[in-house]
Amino acid sequence: MADPAARWHDNVPGPVYIDDSCIICSMCADLAPEHFRMSDDEDHDICYRQPTTPEGWAAVREAADACPTESIGLDGQGTRPTR
Ligand code: SF4
Repeated sequence: MADPAARWHDNVPGPVYIDDSCIICSMCADLAPEHFRMSDDEDHDICYRQPTTPEGWAAVREAADACPTESIGLDGQGTRPTR
């Protein structure tokens, strides 16, 4: 489970984040390229755009389910939205 206390500093603010257990496999960026990408320093992946639509949330959740290290958190600010 992702740890909100270990979220990378360069995630965009909001409930979705990647924590420091990311192994840079690029799965999330492949599944949800509108929301995840490699960090500028190429050290980890980040959430660079929070989802705002049902489609965006579906893509983010798919990426979170597929992440091999469970590094993607969906409730970093305790604001997990309902569908
Ligand atoms: S899927 Fe998980 S481990 Fe892979 S790049 Fe994304 S956050 Fe990192």
